[in-house]
Amino acid sequence: MKVKTGYLEVIAGPMFSGKTEELIRRLKRAAIGKKKVQVFKHKIDSRYGSEKKLFSHNGMSFDSEIIEKSSEILNCLDKKTEIVGVDEAQWFGDELLPVVQALLKKHKKVIVSGLAMTFDRQPFAPLPTLMAMADGVTKLSAICTICGDDAVFHKRITKGKTVDSTVADPSLVGKFDAYEARCRRCWKK
Ligand code: ADP
Ligand code: MG
Ligand code: ZN
Repeated sequence: MKVKTGYLEVIAGPMFSGKTEELIRRLKRAAIGKKKVQVFKHKIDSRYGSEKKLFSHNGMSFDSEIIEKSSEILNCLDKKTEIVGVDEAQWFGDELLPVVQALLKKHKKVIVSGLAMTFDRQPFAPLPTLMAMADGVTKLSAICTICGDDAVFHKRITKGKTVDSTVADPSLVGKFDAYEARCRRCWKK
């Protein structure tokens, strides 16, 4: 028999690139395989109210637990859980890294999805580090709102309350029309 080991999959890209859709697709397959799955999302992600579910922009959903700090993942972890999913990983910051390491040590399969870049095109912690650590990385692109090419960035087109692009802007979280997917060429437009 194979020795059990941890396994880290990362799904990264800009807003609207289908990260949540892809995470839900993988979680649904795991559920079909009768794997014990636990999914976590950050409290700040209040889109569609405070329902305990992941939601994608195209209407897919999957039950999740809502937490404020990444350490709660370890506290809430069921012994029988085989697969741990985390959406919008960027809101947990670097504190998520030791938690992911601990889950891998416990031989969990960890699937983390999140923004690779901020709305002003800076690497968004902890995704860059997670991508470096991962067994597998899926880097997704969206469709550029202006020209229809592949978009690796997203841009804030509404003035928000926060200046720091790594801090969630409570006035804009879940407001999809505040951001647009943009390709490299159209980013400055
Ligand atoms: P993410 O989690 O990366 O923000 P979602 O999984 O929630 O993305 O949503 C992906 C879906 O968003 C696509 O399948 C598509 O229906 C829709 N969508 C809306 N705007 C765009 C866009 N500019 N590019 C690609 N998909 C878009
Ligand atoms: Mg998403
Ligand atoms: Zn473009």
